[in-house]
Amino acid sequence: METVTNRITLAETPEGYEGAGFFATRLDKVVGLARKNSIWPLPFATSCCGIEFMATMGAHYDLARFGSERLSFSPRQADLLMVMGTIAKKMGPILRQVYEQMAEPRWVLSVGACASSGGIFDTYSVLQGIDRIIPVDVYVPGCAPRPEQIIDGVMKIQHLVETESLRRRDSPEYKAMLNKYGIE
Ligand code: SF4
Repeated sequence: METVTNRITLAETPEGYEGAGFFATRLDKVVGLARKNSIWPLPFATSCCGIEFMATMGAHYDLARFGSERLSFSPRQADLLMVMGTIAKKMGPILRQVYEQMAEPRWVLSVGACASSGGIFDTYSVLQGIDRIIPVDVYVPGCAPRPEQIIDGVMKIQHLVETESLRRRDSPEYKAMLNKYGIE
């Protein structure tokens, strides 16, 4: 009979050199491995896509498998801003404030058509994509995206987190990108 123990898979060891009693690898690979498997998301859910996220957190899909079950409603203790739902223009400054309050390194996942492009709400009151006010790392398509798609988006974020250089956040290119958004 299958036990819980034999369903657990271990994270892959980063590339390195190993021998009797030692294993050596690069610091950024170890940091990437740790960060990738302990991302704390901040769910900024405003409408129906948020319901799909609730299913993603439930026992069937179980985001805890990715080390991300610890949701943070405090921006300072979050690594990943997940924006799910229609963002009205009036809500834009609040979303931006939440992003600015997050500490570096931080990532953004735009879930669903509304967050990514305004979706079906091509109207004067709806923001036509959150990337008009904050940088986005990964977009999840769909209206509404299924939990599998949200998980796929989280896995793409995990890949970015794992492979990001430790120096990227201090690079002139990154600062220039934030400056384009008027973020210091
Ligand atoms: S993308 Fe579709 S499901 Fe998601 S918030 Fe917009 S209307 Fe709702």
